[in-house]
Amino acid sequence: RKSVVRITTGSQALDELLGGGIETLCITEAFGEFRSGKTQLAHTLCVSTQVPIHMHGGNGKVAYIDTEGTFRPERIVPIAERFGMDANAVLDNIIYARAYTYEHQYNLLLGLAAKMAEEPFKLLIVDSVIALFRVDFSGRGELAERQQKLAQMLSRLTKIAEEFNVAVYITNQVIADPGGGMFITDPKKPAGGHVLAHAATIRLMLRKGKGEQRVCKIFDAPNLPEGEAVFQVTSGGIMD
Ligand code: ADP
Ligand code: MG
Repeated sequence: RKSVVRITTGSQALDELLGGGIETLCITEAFGEFRSGKTQLAHTLCVSTQVPIHMHGGNGKVAYIDTEGTFRPERIVPIAERFGMDANAVLDNIIYARAYTYEHQYNLLLGLAAKMAEEPFKLLIVDSVIALFRVDFSGRGELAERQQKLAQMLSRLTKIAEEFNVAVYITNQVIADPGGGMFITDPKKPAGGHVLAHAATIRLMLRKGKGEQRVCKIFDAPNLPEGEAVFQVTSGGIMD
């Protein structure tokens, strides 16, 4: 039996809200408007996942699928320094791939899964998981097919989380509509896919606060308290 590993977000308040950090064997979906911190959290997790377990890391490698071209290796450097890690070593352990179509995104997942069978990964990021679907299935009559392909992608992500004991962190950008029911992993909502109904999924809604502050709220997680955490986006990554 695989045991859950919790990976620090860099913010103690956010970790506490999450019951220790983002979990392996599970999908964490960050949902929020532009600049709410989804990608900065991804960058922070790229580093914290590699930190030793006793320091609340995952002691494992990171796979990063980027559909928007917003990964910045140079951002990893100050974040690695903040965690006391060697930046070059950290960068070497981030397997990065840019996806250009939803099919490409799916095929990259299959390739990364093959790598995970051979090397100890602890995190898979897909930032953003849905952007290419919005582009590739933009026609009016294409919603059903889009939902089917999206469900297939989410089901593959669940399998990867469970088979390799990795945390899966996916992002979903929306226009400002707090609580608008747009979580793609929500089995109850049309934007999701009912095939995911069994999957353990944590849904985080991020929004901007004052200045560098960001606010995170968790949606209907049975094991976690209702509430919010405030954190900051800094040069060293996500912090309190
Ligand atoms: P999203 O992915 O949700 O659109 P991001 O994660 O890209 O948003 O967050 C963007 C925010 O992160 C911006 O408001 C920016 O001010 C902040 N940010 C990015 N880089 C840095 C940095 N080096 N130092 C401080 N803040 C930063
Ligand atoms: Mg982003």
